[in-house]
Amino acid sequence: MKIICIGRNYKDHIKELNNEIPESPVIFLKPDTSLLNKNKPFFIPSFSNKIEYEVEVLIRINRIGKHIKKNFAHKYYNEVGLGVDFTARDIQNTLKTKGLPWEKSKGFDNSALVGEWLSKKNLPSLNELNFRLEKNGKIVQSGFTKDMIWNIDQLIVEISKFFTLKIGDIIFTGTPSGVGIIEVNDGLKGYLEDSLIFSIKIK
Ligand code: ZN
Repeated sequence: MKIICIGRNYKDHIKELNNEIPESPVIFLKPDTSLLNKNKPFFIPSFSNKIEYEVEVLIRINRIGKHIKKNFAHKYYNEVGLGVDFTARDIQNTLKTKGLPWEKSKGFDNSALVGEWLSKKNLPSLNELNFRLEKNGKIVQSGFTKDMIWNIDQLIVEISKFFTLKIGDIIFTGTPSGVGIIEVNDGLKGYLEDSLIFSIKIK
């Protein structure tokens, strides 16, 4: 399986990192070794002094597809989740300045926290989902999927132009504003429509 991530999909987050609004979605990949299952702690890696959380709505692909058309995109997933795209921001900033690929800052081991999956049947329209991240009991990010520049079905169209989607692939759909640093002993809890989707400790 592969993990496909979208960068810069919420305007307020683009602003907070001083990036430009892209003309097409920014896409990057994380390897399967980046997967961190909910309930496992996240260990801060020794190579970074600035690991940041980015809470994101996730989609799990349930059929194979390439060049998917927008009106069929919804048939390629029936589970929605929430996760964290852990980012070594110090390393990413250096790589960005040099115009180099981001993998060291985005695809390291355990950098993709994946929480519980919910059936989309039990959720309201996927373009109107609320989600939030709490750090030590305080809300640090809250998002609304309506604020995405490219909604989920448009992302599937764009991604599948370049990458064949396979069963089990996971899409991280981008983060809203409020990204910030984590430290040892922090606790992170993610909620999708007020359901607790993950709860993890930072070590
Ligand atoms: Zn992200």
